[in-house]
Amino acid sequence: MVENDSRPFRVIVAGGGIAGLLMSHALHRAGIDHVVLESHSNVIATGGASFGFWPHAARIVDQLGLWEKVQELSIPMKTSHNRSPNGYTISKTRLFEEVTSRHGYDFLVIERQQFVKILYDSLPDKTRVLENKVVRDIEDIPDGVRVVLGDGSVEEGDIVVGCDGVNSAVRRLMWERAKKNIPECVSEAEETSLTTEYSCLLGVAPPIPGMRKANMTITQHQGFSLMCTTQRDQTFFFVFIKLPKAIHWPDRKRYSAEEAEAEAAKYVDLPVADGIRFGQLWKQRVRGHLYCLEEGIFKLWHHERIVLVGDSAHKMTPTMALGGSCTIESVAVIVNELRREILATPSRKPGSATITTLFNRYQRKREKRAKMIYNVTHEATRVQARDGLSRTLHAMFVAPFVSSQTIADKFALLVKGAAKFDFIPVPARPKGTVDFADERSTEPLVAASKPSGQQRSTTSIRARIQLYFFYRPLRYLWRLFVS
Ligand SMILES: Cc1cc2nc3c(=O)[nH]c(=O)nc-3n(C[C@H](O)[C@H](O)[C@H](O)COP(=O)(O)OP(=O)(O)OC[C@H]3O[C@@H](n4cnc5c(N)ncnc54)[C@H](O)[C@@H]3O)c2cc1C
Repeated sequence: MVENDSRPFRVIVAGGGIAGLLMSHALHRAGIDHVVLESHSNVIATGGASFGFWPHAARIVDQLGLWEKVQELSIPMKTSHNRSPNGYTISKTRLFEEVTSRHGYDFLVIERQQFVKILYDSLPDKTRVLENKVVRDIEDIPDGVRVVLGDGSVEEGDIVVGCDGVNSAVRRLMWERAKKNIPECVSEAEETSLTTEYSCLLGVAPPIPGMRKANMTITQHQGFSLMCTTQRDQTFFFVFIKLPKAIHWPDRKRYSAEEAEAEAAKYVDLPVADGIRFGQLWKQRVRGHLYCLEEGIFKLWHHERIVLVGDSAHKMTPTMALGGSCTIESVAVIVNELRREILATPSRKPGSATITTLFNRYQRKREKRAKMIYNVTHEATRVQARDGLSRTLHAMFVAPFVSSQTIADKFALLVKGAAKFDFIPVPARPKGTVDFADERSTEPLVAASKPSGQQRSTTSIRARIQLYFFYRPLRYLWRLFVS
């Protein structure tokens, strides 16, 4: 007890992935003692393909002084192509440039592993990240918690933050404790709500000659879609595949390298760009995996001194690159809340009741937004894979004709409402036409997002008539039915 009183407030972060490493940066900036426990022997040597930065995530990364490092590794995304199963371009937009013009930040995509490396390499104190530490149990100690690790060692602190990803051990342990205290507080529906309806064959290949750089291509098929993102030094690929039957947690499917190979063989002849087939990417891949794509948002994000941040609380498909941005925002909000309460407590050690209040505030601030983002990615995955009649019709006859300005305006509503660290300044950057809600200085969104002056004349009535009522639909139908 005396020992607990004499040490500062200490946060135990379970998981050293994107959320866990960002937590370490942010807690350091907030002056909060902490440790990060990562199960793998090497934090940096992880798999995956790409990590895309929407402007709201870019702003938070920028606050931590890491945006330049991301910029060094990528070129701003420009165009987006939507292709029919036979590979013809249904629509081509300058969506990413529209996003940049609204929010100031370029839309950047880097390898997920590179982002983890940036986060780790730039940590002010790497001794806080312990590798080979598998969280096994959480016990109560007076005014705190003790985390028991796979190697028999323990870590003591005031709270545990579960940044241990979609299959979170912290979430499972939290549920067990919550059910013991209040049996009805975690329902069976809650426990099985994490659902896998899609798998994803993803990977990284070198630049492929003939594929336009800084471009995203989505090729729609019945029951699956192919997505390729090209960067200066890499080509990222994803095949989102509808499973014959949904899998509900705690059931999980892990795929072997042989299963990934067998799955890839089904797509090798399919076009992903003009004259380029999926087989070329798969053959030249640096790495490629077949993963389950779990989806779900839990109801219980915290209990007693345990709180969930990132994929452990809200998991979405990577279709829109929004899951990572959502995680980055959650880190900002939880650290804002922690810092505020610690500073407001004379002893600098908030007690259990205050911790519950701050966790409540964190969930309240994040839950609605996470659900909104979840709904966007959930639907996008299914429209792109033409999942069902109405989505097929939408994919074929509606989506191709929505202008990139309209899409960017819709996303601007989501981007501008994002949180950021409230105790770290945002570096000065060129502004876009849409202010973030917490930085609003000028006009409301509708007025601000309209192209102004010169720009407005280029998206003139003449151009719109040509685009919507003549050229694009004709070309589209020709390619769909005749070619
Ligand atoms: C291998 C991998 C590849 C991915 N690839 C992509 C991709 O290509 N594109 C994309 O958009 N998203 C990808 N994601 C998901 C994306 O990184 C996350 O959605 C997002 O960044 C949320 O981050 P997170 O920190 O909550 O979870 P994660 O990034 O999953 O990190 C969780 C961390 O916790 C560790 N951990 C798990 N259990 C324990 C335990 N019991 N004790 C201690 N540590 C534990 C894990 O090893 C991992 O490092 C990938 C995730 C992983 C793990």
